[in-house]
Amino acid sequence: MSVCQSTQLKIFNTFGISASADYIGIATSIESLLTLWQEAIEKNHPILLLGGGSNVLFTENFKGTVILNRILGVNIQESDIAWHIHVGAGENWHELITYLFKQQIYGLENLALIPGNVGSAPIQNIGAYGIEFKHVCEYVDFIELKTGNSIRLTVNECQFAYRDSIFKHQYKDGYAIAAVGLCLNKRWEPILTYGALAQFLRENVTPKQIFDTVCEMRQSKLPDPALMGNAGSFFKNPIVPIELAYKIKSEYPDCPQYPHNEKSVKIAAGWLIDQCQLKGYSIGGAAVHTKQALVLINKDNATGKDVVALAAYVYNKVAEKFNIFLEPEVRFIGSEGEIDAVECIS
Ligand SMILES: Cc1cc2nc3c(=O)[nH]c(=O)nc-3n(C[C@H](O)[C@H](O)[C@H](O)COP(=O)(O)OP(=O)(O)OC[C@H]3O[C@@H](n4cnc5c(N)ncnc54)[C@H](O)[C@@H]3O)c2cc1C
Repeated sequence: MSVCQSTQLKIFNTFGISASADYIGIATSIESLLTLWQEAIEKNHPILLLGGGSNVLFTENFKGTVILNRILGVNIQESDIAWHIHVGAGENWHELITYLFKQQIYGLENLALIPGNVGSAPIQNIGAYGIEFKHVCEYVDFIELKTGNSIRLTVNECQFAYRDSIFKHQYKDGYAIAAVGLCLNKRWEPILTYGALAQFLRENVTPKQIFDTVCEMRQSKLPDPALMGNAGSFFKNPIVPIELAYKIKSEYPDCPQYPHNEKSVKIAAGWLIDQCQLKGYSIGGAAVHTKQALVLINKDNATGKDVVALAAYVYNKVAEKFNIFLEPEVRFIGSEGEIDAVECIS
């Protein structure tokens, strides 16, 4: 366990929002996580667990203890058909992929360059280019912080869905993910359904080609948080009734839509925002990215409140034009913990 000398959160959130916490502690083991938790409870502090800070927006200073999860470790076992990899929650997701690549263990390449920590991946069931975390997950280990009990959920028990899991609901407050178990088939199967990946032939494509192409696509489309603060896709792609999707498609034949189930369809949120002519639109220091409308950026010393005001503006414009109500993917953190992002912007 160590204590962070600073109480500034700017370097711990990829939006680069200036906010402070009363105390920042770094958990390097389950024991230190429990000690930090206990100390915060004794101080009557609100508590926030943080990984890489790439999916949060601080709307104001946090009046409590932030615990940075830095529990490390990668353990690889194998069976005849698969690799079983147990990974500490504090490992960096992209670095894990590159480490496994060096061991010639493949299957995560479509998820390359997603920022953040391994322990956060199950929370919103991260996904990109045709793969979601649930496809490679074997189990998730988490701690009930009040008792110190360790609980393991199998992939089926995690209730994974689009940007959703049991860790956003039943096991949200008072629980910390400590490790995840991945299962990667030794017989590697390429997933080539999205974007420039569709150019490859299954018969001769290599994992490295997919990895490089995914990295290139992401680097050309998404702003690098190190250069321009952001938290990736700000809104989820809305899932709308099929009738509404048909109506929009008849007016706008180029509207990107993806089947969800028999009754509903997923629509690209970035396209909806772009149709409202909002690329480049700014409020205070926050702006809609000029290349990718789904990404809100910290253009010039934005405050959390600037980003909330901009998100509310985008929400209202899309609602007026399409009668679709966007839901933020980014988690809003107020002075005492997570606040309802939809309530903030609607
Ligand atoms: C440029 C960019 C691109 C992105 N692209 C994608 C993408 O393609 N697909 C995608 O799905 N996401 C994407 N994201 C979002 C983000 O990378 C993921 O949501 C990632 O999993 C967040 O990890 P993190 O460690 O930064 O989480 P944080 O932001 O630190 O935390 C997210 C939430 O999880 C909680 N939390 C963190 N650690 C723990 C823990 N150990 N136990 C319990 N709760 C915890 C926090 O309290 C918070 O509520 C992108 C973000 C950026 C900035």
